[in-house]
Amino acid sequence: MSQARNHIVVMKFGGTSVEDARAMLRTAAIVRGRRERGLGAVVVVSAMAKVTDQLLAAAAAAGRGDKAGALAIASRLRHRHVDTAAELLDETGFSALEPAIGLEFDALDDLLRGIAAVGELTPRTSDNVVSFGERLSSRMVAAAFAQHGLEGVHVDARTCIVTDDHYGKAAPIEAAIEAKLLDLVLPLVEAGQTPVMGGFIGANAEGITTTLGRGGSDYTAALVGGGLHAGAIEIWTDVNGIMTTDPRICADALRVKTISFEEAAELAYFGAKVLHPATILPAVQKSIPVWVLNSRNPENEGTKITAMAPPCASPFKSIAAKKRLTIIDVVASRMLMTHGYLKAVFDVFDKYHCAIDMVSTSEVSISVTVDSNERLPEICADLGKIADVKYEGHKALVCLVGEDIRGRSGMSGRVFSAIRHINIRMISQGASEINMSFMIEESDVEEAIRSLHAEFFAEPDPTVFDVEARVAVKV
Ligand code: ASP
Ligand code: MG
Repeated sequence: MSQARNHIVVMKFGGTSVEDARAMLRTAAIVRGRRERGLGAVVVVSAMAKVTDQLLAAAAAAGRGDKAGALAIASRLRHRHVDTAAELLDETGFSALEPAIGLEFDALDDLLRGIAAVGELTPRTSDNVVSFGERLSSRMVAAAFAQHGLEGVHVDARTCIVTDDHYGKAAPIEAAIEAKLLDLVLPLVEAGQTPVMGGFIGANAEGITTTLGRGGSDYTAALVGGGLHAGAIEIWTDVNGIMTTDPRICADALRVKTISFEEAAELAYFGAKVLHPATILPAVQKSIPVWVLNSRNPENEGTKITAMAPPCASPFKSIAAKKRLTIIDVVASRMLMTHGYLKAVFDVFDKYHCAIDMVSTSEVSISVTVDSNERLPEICADLGKIADVKYEGHKALVCLVGEDIRGRSGMSGRVFSAIRHINIRMISQGASEINMSFMIEESDVEEAIRSLHAEFFAEPDPTVFDVEARVAVKV
């Protein structure tokens, strides 16, 4: 890329990385480390941990007309932020910032009173309420950076992250964002300052506050990195990166050093709470590597997510499982596979906005799996009008992900013989060339994962997996 700015790194810190004064100082130390390598840093922060949920609760209370309840939540948040700032900053820093925090909370209180007075919460007002979390955390982190020799400077994300006006899940307008970043943020970095902005929030063309949807701070980081053509994006969280499997299930799990975007996307669904890959697409499309790193263990190298996976001698990168799924068997004995039958079945799921995870069909039956059970009785009642239906809960989906299964033969043989002692309820292969998934009883998940991990990660490719960690543990 002609205009790549490899000397700029965009660093995003999630809620737990800014949850209190100690965490914010840890964040400052991590940013200092990058600056000492001669890099310019742009920092994107989430709201302090749990603040977004609490703001949403305050907004909901106000929307029900519960003014006292809403203001009580806001008051607790005010104290938490002021106390954190007091602990974080020296006297000069604190007296400079405290009035700004006070003004933000006064505005929040006014807003909540207004919502309670009309007794109606619109998506637009909800975005306004919830934006206070990132507005506050970014100011505080910027002040801490200023005090710790990092030349921190606060940038209101709403001046650069231009979106449409789909409140609650606004779509960014990348060209407009790039122009704003080059105008407002790049000069700060080039002048040796560290811009700090809130993730998740933006504004539409009229300047009205919007949000990018829950977990949207990663998205902001990717948009900022993409817009600035940064050399790298770092997502600082509280895990060591993406692992070969859940280390709580399998003590032998290894850190995956590098993974492709597509592989990470397959894993995300399995509650790999690390990050939602769709949110890093703006970076991946520009071939900017995204790193997942642990702010509690900054020496750890984390996982690098790239557009293309490097060659790997091991077929799979990771094994994941998702529990609490339900299998619904729809037996079409009355209609057989007549034209339009599948459509009729899927229309029922569509009607209840129920996402289907896996489908498998035979001549007379369709099995689907779903993870939302709330509307299951209604769904099955509707399906019952066109077929015989039964459903069974407590199922789990196990999924093996790896680009290197493409075109390899014998993989399913290896997978299923490793777990031949486990009863398999449903299999799906083919939709994606990079994953193999099957459905088992929830109670068999641990056993299945350990067996598969032993089969496929006994001799992991050291260029892709952190094998040193395993040696260190074993000695
Ligand atoms: N604070 C927002 C949330 O909790 C955005 C983020 O943290 O990514 O959803
Ligand atoms: Mg997050």
